Amino acid sequence: MSPDAPTTEAPLFEARDLVKRFRSRGTVVQAVNGVSLRIPRGRTVGLVGESGSGKSTVARLALRLLDPTSGQVTFDGVDLLRASRGQMQALRRRMQIVFQDPLGSLNPRMRVLDAVGEPLAVHRIAKGSARVDRVVELLERVGLRSSDLYRFSHQFSGGQAQRIGIARALATDPDLIVCDEAVSALDVSVQAQMLNLLKRLQSELGLSYLFIAHDLNVVRYMADEVCVMYLGQIVERGDGDTLFADPRHPYTGMLVSALPEFAPERADGRARRAVPRGEPASPSSPPPGCRFHPRCPKAMQRCREEAPALHGVADGRAAACHLFDAGREASAR
Ligand code: ADP
Ligand code: MG
Repeated sequence: MSPDAPTTEAPLFEARDLVKRFRSRGTVVQAVNGVSLRIPRGRTVGLVGESGSGKSTVARLALRLLDPTSGQVTFDGVDLLRASRGQMQALRRRMQIVFQDPLGSLNPRMRVLDAVGEPLAVHRIAKGSARVDRVVELLERVGLRSSDLYRFSHQFSGGQAQRIGIARALATDPDLIVCDEAVSALDVSVQAQMLNLLKRLQSELGLSYLFIAHDLNVVRYMADEVCVMYLGQIVERGDGDTLFADPRHPYTGMLVSALPEFAPERADGRARRAVPRGEPASPSSPPPGCRFHPRCPKAMQRCREEAPALHGVADGRAAACHLFDAGREASAR
């Protein structure tokens, strides 16, 4: 997928101003706070951020596995929150998810045929020998063999198990696959194979991905557009290479600096020693103003009082930071 000019075609998926609050043990957890996303057809949008920043909650909201406190989700022009049960059932075929441990929720004594073939039964797509044929086709597509059909899922290595998870996600011939930390538990070499498999499947099948990981390098490799999340909000968004070469939001800067390959120097010769300092605040008591200000080396008085909105900065990117409010950018850089 070449990251060319933005298309005017309606996106396959769009989320607007998603908010999700959980009530948990007498407190309110603000897991997601005003997240908007657009995923064009055949493209990959990446979500990156520390653990607890709300990525998985966005994933579940996107697929309507969870209802938002407020906000809007549309898939191929259909408002998911207003979709009827029947509409939703039809749409579920078209949106799938791959987890970090896709087989973890399945019975380890389940055969591959049943693990991959289950969605075919649930959605009444194929049964009997047609189902077996379809599962074989899916296995071959993800680099497994028909001889794997009757093996049990617990007999597979992590990478092979992930291939089974991907085959299962592909069973219903979806348009969108949400990958939630799908490669995070794998060794680096296996991870690379899996990323390349996902890319190949994307170009063969025209898939769109919402690709979630806490590892910036992985997201950069996969995504046409990267969204950096911090405490339930997108703080910076843009083309991966540009964003990594020249991060605007101080939080993105910290994440990039912490990558081993970027230390110890930047292209301009300045040392890059900053690692994300401190811990993120709790989503049940986020700081006032900019949620990042207690950890931000550039925080100003205004940052403690007023939450910055996500708005356009240079190079088609957006950042939520008062340093880049109109007219301030030149003096801040
Ligand atoms: P990430 O995937 O980025 O690690 P999550 O979306 O899983 O983040 O979680 C975001 C925040 O919401 C965390 O503080 C988490 O504890 C909280 N959270 C997630 N799901 C629930 C839930 N069902 N009830 C209460 N809090 C939740
Ligand atoms: Mg998660």
